[in-house]
Amino acid sequence: MIKRNPLVMVPGPTPVARSIQDAMGRETISFNDPRLTCEFNALVSDLVSLWRCDGIAFVVAGSGTMGMEMGIVNTASSSDRVLICSNGYFGDRMADICSRKGFDSEVIKAPACGMTVSVEDVDKKLSERKFDILVLTHVETSTGVEFPLKDLTEMMRAHHPGTLIIVDGVASMGGVDFYMDWGVDVMLSCSQKCFGTSPGLALLWASRRAVAKRRSMPPIAESYIDFEKWIPVMEDTMRYWGTPAVNMIWALSEAVRIIKEEGLENRFKRHRAYAKAIRRSISAMGFKPGADESVASPTVTVCLYPEGCGLDDADFRDAVYSEGAHVAGCLGELAGRGFRIGHMGNIDEHILVSLIAAIERACIKRGYKIKPGVGLASLQESLLKSW
Ligand SMILES: *Cc1c(COP(=O)(O)O)cnc(C)c1O
Repeated sequence: MIKRNPLVMVPGPTPVARSIQDAMGRETISFNDPRLTCEFNALVSDLVSLWRCDGIAFVVAGSGTMGMEMGIVNTASSSDRVLICSNGYFGDRMADICSRKGFDSEVIKAPACGMTVSVEDVDKKLSERKFDILVLTHVETSTGVEFPLKDLTEMMRAHHPGTLIIVDGVASMGGVDFYMDWGVDVMLSCSQKCFGTSPGLALLWASRRAVAKRRSMPPIAESYIDFEKWIPVMEDTMRYWGTPAVNMIWALSEAVRIIKEEGLENRFKRHRAYAKAIRRSISAMGFKPGADESVASPTVTVCLYPEGCGLDDADFRDAVYSEGAHVAGCLGELAGRGFRIGHMGNIDEHILVSLIAAIERACIKRGYKIKPGVGLASLQESLLKSW
């Protein structure tokens, strides 16, 4: 029997398209070879224009966590007050970064797991006390929750226009509706989630206002992730600060070409449609989506085990893996109570069908008696609807 690699259905990395793998496999050349710098310049200007940024886009070797750190240290000065909205594990990570840096910070938490800090809560908090920086997670990967970012930016423009907004868009950028001209100052992401590229690059968009904020600050303690060091490079990629990840830049360029070919708006719609189809399908099998439907993420779904199903978390996920799909465990208070599906980037209907089929077979083989095809039938019905 042909043994295929399991589908990578975790919330990053996500499946990497053949053409992106091929781009990564090109011969490595010097960072200042015009064959690279032309493409790198074009990539940076695509990132700026696609997401309607009036400032600068950065592409720097590192992971999403480095992007989080880069976002905060370049915009928060030591005297600034920082408000962090946490809907779970990655919001807490942002709070940890801020407290290590010694920022005067405060955290608002989601009222319950699977819910989001509300726009009203943020408004209230900012009305009580002045905060210079607001930090939030667009899609909280641990709970599968989408923050209502459009509503938030409208409220902020109306009530708190002086506060800079930093958004962790690691699990949303390239898959979930967003443009910088909504009024966000720093958006950060990385290559291995909705961009569908291998891990290795942090991406960051800074508004003109964020760049001006950095310029108004004294030198910062960090060197590698200092905006001031990278701005000259992003303006002209012939320049040098730290050696760019040559092969990853080719890969990301191909990923952005794929995004342009699909169209951002189509990509946003596709992610929402697939996510809804997955939530319906896993519900048909008896699992419960971990996020409230009103805030369920288009890119990652927490699937809680049905009461009394007899499935053991680790053993069940092993079974899904053997059936051909790699899904993730849950984090924090949800650990052991469910599993997570990443459905981001360059995935298609074949992948969704195989994923749901693998989950069905794993359920049945591990003694949770569902009717074969119950999840697939629901999925197919959803996929046949136009979106
Ligand atoms: C994955 C993820 C991160 C961390 O990214 P790394 O590349 O693993 O460092 C941060 N925030 C969110 C919302 C994520 O999903």
